[in-house]
Amino acid sequence: MKIAIVGTGYVGLVTGACLADTANHVTCIDIDKKKVDLLKDGKVPFYEPGLDELVKKNVVEQRLFFTTSYDEAIPEADITFIAVNTPPRDDGHVNLDFVQNAARAIGKRLKRYQVIAMKSTAPVGTCELVRNIILQETSQNVDFDVISNPEFLKEGAAIDDFLRPNRVIIGLASERPLKLIKDLYIPFMRRGERFIVMDIRSTELTKYVANAMLATRISFMNEISNLCEKIGANIDYVRRGIGSDPRIGPDFLYPGLGYGGSCLPKDVKGLIQFGLENNQTLKILQAVHEINQRQPGRLIDKIINHFDGKDKLKGLQFTLWGLAFKAKTDDIREAPAQFIIQTLLDHDVRVQAFDPVAEENMKAVFAQVNYHDNAYNALVGSHALIIATEWNDFRNPDFQRMKNVMKSPVIFDGRNLYNVEKMREFNFSYYRFGYAS
Ligand code: NAD
Repeated sequence: MKIAIVGTGYVGLVTGACLADTANHVTCIDIDKKKVDLLKDGKVPFYEPGLDELVKKNVVEQRLFFTTSYDEAIPEADITFIAVNTPPRDDGHVNLDFVQNAARAIGKRLKRYQVIAMKSTAPVGTCELVRNIILQETSQNVDFDVISNPEFLKEGAAIDDFLRPNRVIIGLASERPLKLIKDLYIPFMRRGERFIVMDIRSTELTKYVANAMLATRISFMNEISNLCEKIGANIDYVRRGIGSDPRIGPDFLYPGLGYGGSCLPKDVKGLIQFGLENNQTLKILQAVHEINQRQPGRLIDKIINHFDGKDKLKGLQFTLWGLAFKAKTDDIREAPAQFIIQTLLDHDVRVQAFDPVAEENMKAVFAQVNYHDNAYNALVGSHALIIATEWNDFRNPDFQRMKNVMKSPVIFDGRNLYNVEKMREFNFSYYRFGYAS
């Protein structure tokens, strides 16, 4: 099949590489010439485990191509995916400019029947909008269908999620595109994964609701962990106690700094806004968002308490382990580390940092931080360590070595990585979420 992908970011590139790997002819389009040039040179512009190899392999096999030219990809495509960014505006609305531009560019170049599949996360009604724009732009008599095909991949495990999806959801208005899109996905569904077909509006909403539910679980546990701290209960026991109930399940129940990244925060805000526009206040989600906004500040409160007031922070040196919004990615969009760094700098704290892959991205935001290429070097002379990302590299470090190089043995753990007995053994002052002490 001939596939065009409009927007070659996380979603577009993973989709393109995985579809090329099942022998489709895939052309990825992007307006960012620098990105396209890098990809043409065989370089992946962001970190995603396994993606480098997959891209290289399919470029060599001449199944995966990159371009800035719509003309090279759209007219011949059987299916075009729209995978452009849909960032939030300051007022909470979703910015659909990129989607609309993509739709216009596609519409101008349609030559024969084609399926246009919306992969970008966008509010209910966007497929209709895309369809209307394409209708305006196409010459008469060119037939096409717009379908909704939201993406559920997780950064850090994106390739596995695409190659072995737990479900593929397709929203359509007529049966015509079904066979084509099913043929495309069948190679990834050999273990009987669910292929769920529904109407377009329900599909568009499902994507938002999925992310909102995940965010809700995290904020719920953060709220309960705050209660645990006040009443002397242990959040880890509570988590295991409820997570073992199959109706609840163990995932997304970890307390800490809260959710970040390019999806959960934006989609929760987008759904709240969409509710307001339709005279429905989504109260639970408003609380989910508020709790999440509060969590990094709770870590700062612990720091201020330990050092006897915010005035005492001036001139101290702190180290951050982890900058990415979660492990196995270099994505720092809405990462709690950004809030923490800004607050520390506002209090005249010197900040050292180490992250296995996200340093370059954070440098572009905070040039004044001292970045290190080794976790222990980053600790030399620091008054405290803050753990902001749950990288495996931080799970079982050499505590004695840490203590030897730090000015004072203090850890503020935003991801609850360590065993408190071990912390006592090494005489660390240790702060985490959801424990009385
Ligand atoms: P991204 O910012 O990494 O990539 C988007 C790309 O689209 C950029 O390279 C940009 O230059 C390009 N672009 C913008 N307008 C264009 C146009 N008119 N023509 C061609 N290219 C254009 O974004 P992303 O993280 O891949 O997310 C894309 C969409 O998928 C968003 O709606 C997001 O919410 C959704 N999504 C993301 C994830 C994720 O984990 N990142 C998961 C599921 C869904």
